[in-house]
Amino acid sequence: MARRFAGDRLVLATHNAGKVREIGELLAPFTVEVISAGSLGLPEPEETGTTFRANAELKARAAATAANLPALADDSGLVVDALGGAPGIYSARWAGPDKDFTVAMKRVEQKLTGKKKVVAHFVCALCLAWPDGTFETFEGIVNGTLIFPPRGTQGFGYDPIFMPAGHDITFGEMEPERKHAMSHRANAFRQLVAACFAA
Ligand code: IMP
Repeated sequence: MARRFAGDRLVLATHNAGKVREIGELLAPFTVEVISAGSLGLPEPEETGTTFRANAELKARAAATAANLPALADDSGLVVDALGGAPGIYSARWAGPDKDFTVAMKRVEQKLTGKKKVVAHFVCALCLAWPDGTFETFEGIVNGTLIFPPRGTQGFGYDPIFMPAGHDITFGEMEPERKHAMSHRANAFRQLVAACFAA
C-alpha cells in the first residue's frame, strides 16, 4: 500500500523548465501549492544512478531532505532500441552544456545513419519522497517512431522527432492537452495520483 500525500505543499525537484510546466499542468486539479526547487535555491544533485528510477529517487529524496517538505522528481528520456537504448538516461546530456536539443536531435539522426523510421519510446520515472526518507516511485512509457527532420515547436526536448504510435503528428506538433493524455509523464502521473492522491 503506497503512502498517501496528505500535505498542501510540494517541492518540484527539477530545474528543467519544460518539466516544471508539464508537471504543474498535471498537478493543477489538486489543491497543492507547487514550489520549484529553483525558488528554494536547492542544488541539482549529480545523477549518478544507472536507471531512470534510481535517478528520480535520488533527486526526490535529496530535495525532500533539503527542503524538509515532500518532493516530487521526474527522471525521463528517450530510448532508441536501434542505438542500444541511447540516449536513455543521458538524454539531457546529449544536448550539451547549452541544453540545445537541435544538437541532440541531430546527434540521434546521425547515429541512425540514414534510417528514416525507427521505433523508440519515452520513459518517465516519477518519485514522491518525504523528509523522513520514505518514497514511492512510478514509471510510465509511450511508444512511437522517430522521424526526421524535426517537426513542430510545442513541447520540449526530443518532442519534434517523436511521433507517438497511432498518430501522424509529433509531440512537437501536438497541443499540450493531447500530449498530456498519452505521454510517458502522464502515464506515470496517473499511477502516482491513483496510489498517493486520489480520495
Ligand atoms: P533528466 O530527466 O532531467 O535527466 O532529462 C530528461 C531529458 O529527456 C530531458 O531534458 C528531455 O530532453 C528528454 N525528455 C524527457 N521527457 C521528454 C518529453 O516529454 N519530451 C521530449 N523530451 C523529453
